[in-house]
Amino acid sequence: MLKIITKASQLRGRVSVECSDEEMKSYNHITDQLKILMRSANGVGIAAPQVGIFKRMFLFQRDNGLIQVVINPEICWLSGNTRKEYEGCLSVPFRTKRVTRDTNITVKYFNGKEFITESLRDMESRIFQHEWHHLLGILFIDIE
Ligand SMILES: [Zn+2]
Repeated sequence: MLKIITKASQLRGRVSVECSDEEMKSYNHITDQLKILMRSANGVGIAAPQVGIFKRMFLFQRDNGLIQVVINPEICWLSGNTRKEYEGCLSVPFRTKRVTRDTNITVKYFNGKEFITESLRDMESRIFQHEWHHLLGILFIDIE
C-alpha cells in the first residue's frame, strides 16, 4: 500500500517526469490506491509524487464530487485574475496558508481514456494549480 510522504524535504524541488505511453495505459493500479488515500485523508487532491512516484499524474475532486484522473497535464492559459485563499495539503499536515492562484485556467491532460482540453474555474482551478505545483516540486507553503 502506498503511503503519503509528509516530509517537505522529500518533495521540495523534485520535478516529476512525464508518464510514458505504456504508463498511461497501466495507470489504474496507481490511481485506485491514490483515490483510497485521498478519500481516507479527506483530501480534495493528491499527486503521485506525494506517495514517492515522481510521475506527472494527479487526482482532484470536481465540483460535482467525482474524482478526476489527470495524466501528463499542461496549463495552456492562466487568466491573470487571481484570488488569495487558504489551502492545506496532505503532505503538510496541520498547516494552512493563504495562496494566490489564478481563478480561471485552461488545461490539457489525458484523463485515462482520451486527451481533453477544458477550462476550470474557482475551486477546480485552485486544486489543479496546487497539484500541478506538486509535479514541479513546489509546495504551497513556499509560495505567496
Ligand atoms: Zn498538496
